[in-house]
Amino acid sequence: MTACSVPTHNSLTGEDELSVAETPVFIRVAMSLFFRTLLLTLFIIGASAVSLPAAPRISDYQAVFIPFYNEDGVVLAAVRRYKRDDHPHFLVLDPHQFVLSEMTAERTLTSRPADAETWSHTLFSRALARQTSPPYPLQNDGLREAEHPVPGFFLTADLCPAKKSLDRTFFTATMALPQKPPIPVALMISGLWIQKHEADLAWLKDQIGAGKLSITWVNHSFTHPYDPAVPLEKNFLLMNKPGFRDEVLFLERLLLERGLVPSPFFRFPGLVSDRQLIESLRNLCLIPVGSNAWLAKGEAPRSGSVILVHANGNEPAGIRRLLSFYDRQREAFRRGATALLPLREAFSIP
Ligand SMILES: [Zn+2]
Repeated sequence: MTACSVPTHNSLTGEDELSVAETPVFIRVAMSLFFRTLLLTLFIIGASAVSLPAAPRISDYQAVFIPFYNEDGVVLAAVRRYKRDDHPHFLVLDPHQFVLSEMTAERTLTSRPADAETWSHTLFSRALARQTSPPYPLQNDGLREAEHPVPGFFLTADLCPAKKSLDRTFFTATMALPQKPPIPVALMISGLWIQKHEADLAWLKDQIGAGKLSITWVNHSFTHPYDPAVPLEKNFLLMNKPGFRDEVLFLERLLLERGLVPSPFFRFPGLVSDRQLIESLRNLCLIPVGSNAWLAKGEAPRSGSVILVHANGNEPAGIRRLLSFYDRQREAFRRGATALLPLREAFSIP
């Protein structure tokens, strides 16, 4: 089956279903309904708790897969469909730049269709196929380091749900690096973090607006489920596999409502996943991002590493190690011998 294609019946209404064959149907439906209701409730509570006067309403948010050619003959694919204040829109994936952007339905629907075969040869589709291939480890599946030699590192910072404020030390130190701004950083963001940290989110937007940071918003699920008493095989998003799609799509919708555009990347909470979730992620056109340099665990970055820290205030040891890493590398940054790089540059150009 072609990566990043979903059985949409080649129509604009299709929505693929998560395959959860091993779970009995009644349990599946009950769990799915329960978690969907829970997610919706959390979403509504969050939406009413903050006053965003001009916040656009996003509704009817669905995954689709519609490859097409733009006016320059470049292949793109609409991967989400939704209404923004009742106007139909698509999120369109550029498989060369690895970015999503919003496009009106009129523009998308009047474009020349492309076939799935053409799509499967794009850089993104090939990268997605590589990063979602077997053997499906329980931990740290997906991109852990660059697929080819690169002169730098990929900085990723998780924003799992937390009571503490955003770790601004992390951002001020990163912005102070001797590297031409805006400095690229991938923020792995969860829905529950957003709902509790609107002021921090506004501060991050200010840093983008000031040209200091270039943030790739990476989906880290909506609720980021975790139970310290449960074994990994049943923990994090493996707790409720039927709810996985909603965990992904609700977070994207929340980002769009905050005026932020999601990226085609995903970080599993706890870096825990299995074959079924990886295959669902592939169908949703999202590349999993792991790490080979989780600093708080004592893993040291090397050239091409995806560095993992937590910017939610819950892992100060990781931030301390990052700051000493910056100190050790400062001269290399100054000479331009190393740099923080955008995630897109981790992927090979065949
Ligand atoms: Zn997390």
